Amino acid sequence: RFCTVSNLATIINAKVPALLRNLESLGFEGLTHDYILDQENATLIADDYGFEVVLNDETGIDIFPEPINELLLQTRAPIVTIMGHVDHGKTTILDYLRNSSIVDQEHGGITQHIGAFSVTTPVSKKSITFLDTPGHAAFLKMRERGANVTDIVVLVVAGDDSVKPQTIEAIKHAKKAGVQMIVAINKCDKPGANPDKVVADLSRHEVDVEDYGGDVQVIRVSGKTGLNMDKLEEAIVTLSEIMDVKAEVEKVPAEGWVIESHLKKGLGSVATVLVTRGTVKPGSILVAGQTYCRVKSMKDEHGKVVRAACPSKPVEVWGWRDLPEAGDSVIQAKDEKLAKKVVDNRANRAKTIDEAKDVDAINKMRKKQRDEVDRLKKVEELKKYGLEGTAMNAAAAEDTCKQISFIIKADVSGSAEAVKESIAHLGNDEVKVRVLYDAVGPATETDLERAKTSGSSILAFNIDTPKDIERKAFTAGVDIKSHNIIYHLIEEVTEILTSNLAPEV
Ligand code: GDP
Repeated sequence: RFCTVSNLATIINAKVPALLRNLESLGFEGLTHDYILDQENATLIADDYGFEVVLNDETGIDIFPEPINELLLQTRAPIVTIMGHVDHGKTTILDYLRNSSIVDQEHGGITQHIGAFSVTTPVSKKSITFLDTPGHAAFLKMRERGANVTDIVVLVVAGDDSVKPQTIEAIKHAKKAGVQMIVAINKCDKPGANPDKVVADLSRHEVDVEDYGGDVQVIRVSGKTGLNMDKLEEAIVTLSEIMDVKAEVEKVPAEGWVIESHLKKGLGSVATVLVTRGTVKPGSILVAGQTYCRVKSMKDEHGKVVRAACPSKPVEVWGWRDLPEAGDSVIQAKDEKLAKKVVDNRANRAKTIDEAKDVDAINKMRKKQRDEVDRLKKVEELKKYGLEGTAMNAAAAEDTCKQISFIIKADVSGSAEAVKESIAHLGNDEVKVRVLYDAVGPATETDLERAKTSGSSILAFNIDTPKDIERKAFTAGVDIKSHNIIYHLIEEVTEILTSNLAPEV
């Protein structure tokens, strides 16, 4: 994917100086034979030399959702997230709903937390799926990754506390996500509850409550006593019917979202998948993020084996090669061969992005090194022409230069060297890097002591720092900067140098 100018010259049968001149005329500045070109630029140049570049088209392979076939759409259960201020009763309401569903289904056992659960409403006998992690963090984390899982947000507001900062935040999130909202005024069993005040406060925060002629339903409930919880469930069903939530159940590749994942002792990687389209069955091949699985078995939140998971059904799925992440989108592949190809390509693409950034850092580092050599040559020349005073000035300038000191700790000696090389030449006449020493292995107490006495920061590359050392470093006021990607480390060191420059006057 990358090649140097000299590599490219060999491939296209050109002389390096001629190629460099040509590159300059194409707009590249100050290039050298060892400059690393990316695929796009290399292709451009090869093209200019009359070579046809054939890219390995397998690198583009991925699976994309098929267009929706309106004729196959069927009503599905709405997917609901509970949000609201801390202590307003989100967990209590979820617990009540979960327990009522156990009684309904005569499972009697304990419902396991798998990230979501389904209930059947007491009156209309319709199904609702609740996401089991209340609060904004989970909702936002999924949305950040592009996962639009929720159809409806139930905004819980305590009747005795009314609208609070996190209530306002939840309103904002729901609006921004374009998700429909239902208000549950909770703790209405309490004598101090004042639901009318809550309604007034909500309308002041631009919630279009039905009490004031809007279309946001408001239900006065108690998660503790169960007061009006059936009304809340029916309100959700009514809204979902108005919204007309639908999905194809058959004849399309299955799709969904990973909502939770973890390693189970002896069982391997397990992920809860919320199916949004199609049907997942044992034997289905699913791709999620950079991993895939042939579904070994599926279980619901009651630990019951599921043979077919339709849209809005949350199931624990066994059989993943690696652990997928919450928020990963899931899509069915027609066979394992394709799944493997897609996953490999996704991993390669991610790697290319990181490598491209590394390449950029290396090119910049080389330019700095060359500039430094040029500067030293100039000083030598000045000396030769008897202009030692000027040279002396340069040396004097060197003396007043501020040095920022670092200790490098890395996983292997090769990377310790690489880090040292990439940062040693950073800086300018005012501020420079000084590498106190570099060594292999995690930071130790000795490193901390030396860092403290010398005023150095520790750079940990590709290696974890033990927790107790981190704590000791914090108390001793020693900075440990950990990185796995070299250009991130270079950026950080550059920032430290910049922050040490004298302010401009
Ligand atoms: P969360 O932080 O929003 O999940 O709130 P919790 O569900 O943990 O509830 C916070 C406190 O309020 C707990 O002590 C609950 O027992 C109490 N609580 C929750 N719902 C009700 C309710 O409807 N009535 C009464 N009286 N107390 C409630």
